[in-house]
Amino acid sequence: MPLILELEDEYRKAKRDPEFAAQMDDLWRNYVGRPSPLYHAERISEHFGGPKIYFKRDELNHTGAHKINNCLGQVLLAMRMGKKRIIAETGAGQHGVATATVCARFGLKCVVFMGATDVERQKPNVFRMKMLGAEIVPVSSGTGTLKDAMNEALRDWVTNVHDTFYVIGTAAGPHPYPELVRDFQSVIGEEAKRQLQEREGRLPDAVMACIGGGSNAIGLFHPFIEDEGVRLIGVEASGHGIETGQHAAALNGGKPGILHGNKTYLLQTDDGQIIDAHSISAGLDYPGIGPEHAFLRDTGRAEYLTCTDKEALEGFQLCTRLEGIIPALEPAHAIARLGDVCETMDKDQILIMNLCGRGDKDIFSVAEHLGMEI
Ligand SMILES: *Cc1c(COP(=O)(O)O)cnc(C)c1O
Repeated sequence: MPLILELEDEYRKAKRDPEFAAQMDDLWRNYVGRPSPLYHAERISEHFGGPKIYFKRDELNHTGAHKINNCLGQVLLAMRMGKKRIIAETGAGQHGVATATVCARFGLKCVVFMGATDVERQKPNVFRMKMLGAEIVPVSSGTGTLKDAMNEALRDWVTNVHDTFYVIGTAAGPHPYPELVRDFQSVIGEEAKRQLQEREGRLPDAVMACIGGGSNAIGLFHPFIEDEGVRLIGVEASGHGIETGQHAAALNGGKPGILHGNKTYLLQTDDGQIIDAHSISAGLDYPGIGPEHAFLRDTGRAEYLTCTDKEALEGFQLCTRLEGIIPALEPAHAIARLGDVCETMDKDQILIMNLCGRGDKDIFSVAEHLGMEI
């Protein structure tokens, strides 16, 4: 408890400090490339024949996704707290790469915990992290995947808290992490709200994003939660299908439980053992979901849909062909559900979808699934 109470206290102070906000703004603008554009996806809109669809272009950020928004915030917080050693967990390696990037930028030691199975599966990202100066610790306990890496990172943090800061990669984990990750990612929704106001002079009718742990979605949703006319739509990965048990849809196919310091919906057996998640997209296969999404679902404020591996591959190709944007497989899940959502909306309405990552990292697995060779 003392670690997280200290973190909460320091975070409250940082939040009130205009110096901290100014530092973030400068890095967002000049290092990350914010604000990301709000783009009217004309041909996709036409294709579905429903509302006007805008993409929030967070795939244009430095390192290719939204993760760096959060890493920068947490690393700046670590430096305020005088911590010189940064640790992180990673599954596919995207959060590890973003954390290693920010650590290189500030000359901080970076240790990334990664499941041994994932180290084997994600060699390009392991190489990137090494080039960026990070140390990789393969974790072979459990199934050697993301949840095991997170267990190990929490253990390390408790042991080395005097000089160590733990940068969690999604809006989950013990309080205050779900809140601070949400706040750092809220730049997505705040910008989108302002940009749409400038362009259309109004609020959107719906905002939509894919869900792994839920950080890019909550970052888009948060500034709209009080605007009751705005639908909030999350898309979980249902892998081979919920009924097969091989999926990553914690809200649609999981049950409440406690893991990594938060009570939320989890993929688990009847005995409460955590089940490994499956998704074609390595960034979505977390067996839990941020607790704020569990709340938004239980209160009915947000809707949570699902998308299979197969459908995501179709979404990937559709966006590439119609918009000339190769999306990551994660947002391809949201793209694939656009058709169904558009059917429930009128032509004069507006939907914003977060295009949270670009597809460079996924071309090899897409080629393999399409039976093509690179
Ligand atoms: C990691 C990742 C996700 C999933 O994480 P969230 O916390 O749910 O946002 C989604 N999209 C991309 C591109 C990612 O890298």
